[in-house]
Amino acid sequence: MFQIINVANRLPVTIGEQITLSTGGIVSAIEGIRKDYNMLWLGWPGELIEGHKNQQQIKQILLDKYHCTPVFLDKSEIDGFYYGFSNSTLWPLLHYRPYFIKYQTDWWQMYQQVNWKFAQAIVKIAQKNELIWIHDYHLMLLPQMLRQIKPNLKIGFFLHTPFPSYEIFRCHPQRKELLTGLLAADLVGFHTFGYLRHFRSASMRLLDIDSDTTVINTNNRKCTLGVFPIGADVQSFTNEMQTEPFRTKRAEFLKIYKDKTIVLNVERLDYSKGVMQRLEAIDKFLEKRENKDNIVFIFINIPSRERVPEYSNLRQEIESFVGRLNGKHSTVKNTPIHFIHQSVDFTELCAIYNIAKIAMVTPLIDGMNLVAKEYVACKPNFDGILILSEFAGAANELFQSLIVNPYDIQNMTQTLELALTIPPDDMKRRMKGMYERVVQFDAKYWAKSFINELSKIQITRPAAKKKINVLNALTKKIKKAKKIAFFLDYDGTLCPIQDEPDKAAPDKQLKTLLEQLGEKKNIDTYLISGRTESDLEKWFAKFKITLIAEHGFSYRKHQTGRWERFTRHIDTLWKKPVREIFQQHVATTQGSFIEEKKSSLTWHYRKADPEFGLYNARQLMQLFVEMLSNMPVEVHHGKKIVEVKSMHANKGNALMKFAGKKSKYDFVLCAGDDVTDENMFKVKDERLFKIKVGDGNVQTNAEYFIDSPKELITLLSTIIKKIP
Ligand code: UDP
Repeated sequence: MFQIINVANRLPVTIGEQITLSTGGIVSAIEGIRKDYNMLWLGWPGELIEGHKNQQQIKQILLDKYHCTPVFLDKSEIDGFYYGFSNSTLWPLLHYRPYFIKYQTDWWQMYQQVNWKFAQAIVKIAQKNELIWIHDYHLMLLPQMLRQIKPNLKIGFFLHTPFPSYEIFRCHPQRKELLTGLLAADLVGFHTFGYLRHFRSASMRLLDIDSDTTVINTNNRKCTLGVFPIGADVQSFTNEMQTEPFRTKRAEFLKIYKDKTIVLNVERLDYSKGVMQRLEAIDKFLEKRENKDNIVFIFINIPSRERVPEYSNLRQEIESFVGRLNGKHSTVKNTPIHFIHQSVDFTELCAIYNIAKIAMVTPLIDGMNLVAKEYVACKPNFDGILILSEFAGAANELFQSLIVNPYDIQNMTQTLELALTIPPDDMKRRMKGMYERVVQFDAKYWAKSFINELSKIQITRPAAKKKINVLNALTKKIKKAKKIAFFLDYDGTLCPIQDEPDKAAPDKQLKTLLEQLGEKKNIDTYLISGRTESDLEKWFAKFKITLIAEHGFSYRKHQTGRWERFTRHIDTLWKKPVREIFQQHVATTQGSFIEEKKSSLTWHYRKADPEFGLYNARQLMQLFVEMLSNMPVEVHHGKKIVEVKSMHANKGNALMKFAGKKSKYDFVLCAGDDVTDENMFKVKDERLFKIKVGDGNVQTNAEYFIDSPKELITLLSTIIKKIP
């Protein structure tokens, strides 16, 4: 059995005349640790492979020789999923290029189809205890799809690109589906805290879910967020630099570039890499330079995604700009820009990294940028200068580089001039610091730390376990009871919370339940809610149940149809100053509003920005602690609300009035979801059976948990059948 199933869009192989191991960031990181973990790699082989026989043959070779399982894609899947949705929709979105985003409904369908295909392929091989590690933006729906089929798999996801600001991410038509897809993972990793922060912000704002700095809570599950900056495959570079072919290549290059300073540029040809801006800065630099014979800018631009028009257009733009610059700045002795639109082999890459005096790595945005780290890894003598964009993830770690803003052409030109005159001591000091860091936190370190973190995560699902207990425990206790009371909260308990309170009307199943409860001779039902008298009357007057309004301020027995107060004289002098303060907050916290009831004033911020709303709610709570300390009120911070209410309105007191020790009831069930329901749960009495609806992980005085209103209704409908 495998310990880890590593899932990426691409397998680490290139299929040509022969099958060979490919190069690249993820490949080197994972290949370096595969032996340690007994890891199977699952993904697309990267080519259209047709015919059953052909596919079976390749499958066998991949499994035997490379420990890989292929997921074959047909032509329409390659077009829609890979070139379409992944590279023409998601890539520009994640790299802050909204004007490059193209969107087609059929691409989205293909993206879902291929993610589903991956899920099926994984399920076929996954037993039970493997860790599933999914990579990158091609497979954002996969965690949720897998979770649906095998709920108990331990799933990690790592995003190799940036995660953009919420304001950009929200442009995407399927923003919610993509986030929900990812949040089904147990661990989601990013290169930097900035990307993590954006992801969390988007989840909170688009899905309206709670989160701490590194944990997002969804449906009784936790998704942990973590920062794992990918490292370079230092060992391969260090080993290569010990070889004879390297020494030969290095000597050859030194001869070719004798007496010339090399400024190196290595990247995939991609609009996120800032090549045009860099060429502009080089143009300005050369305009000012007197001696143009002794400097050469080598550009290794690896061909990439040429079927996507933005990439082929960019290639033409770059080539024509390079042509113009060389025409403008070449001398008889020197052509300043060497533009190579091909991959170079590994030995050549090491040699050129090793001899280049300066590397310019100036992307407009980049998840990490391994080239920056590889350049440093190839400088064991610390004789090089890295010019690095502040928008590369690597800038967070390689802060001893010369950091530039790639949009600021003048800043790049000046930094290039500075790099050429930097004193050797300063150069060595900077490079040494970066070298030590790059060597310590290499690709292996990255992969191991992600796997360790994923292994540590506990995936017990407490709510699911307790739910089974509720039915058993309730059946046992209720069977013995002669006279029973049900105290049921409404919003969040019998009906899911809605963004508009008026939308939370009872559905058919609930109405049937309330009708049945009304007919039960041995059960008295109390609907105990924070809602107003008129709200409750509008929906529930026709049922044979008692309505309790405003958290225990007044009640209405169906026999009389009249509202009565629990306490006669209620002081409401506190309302005026509280209302004024709430009004100030409504003005500044856009989307928030006030709700006034007879016994309470509530400030709602569920439609406001979640973080700003929460901040203001905390400010209000601090203020009220002192201001209202001598007033007959209770203040609480509930689900996106701050409420000030008369202390006489209390669900616990209301429960005691009807179902106190001297009452006729020998069994009392109370169910609620909110802090106001805790007043019922706090009552200490053996006859009480207390059910909390919703998140089982919060602090509560209840003993039993139910996931959702729907499940509570099902539970009650089942249980009342057992009572005469
Ligand atoms: N690289 C390559 N062929 C080359 C030159 C470089 O495959 O001719 C590798 C380079 O060593 C690095 C990767 O391409 O590992 C580029 O990774 P990076 O993180 O810089 O950018 P990405 O391509 O992931 O956007």
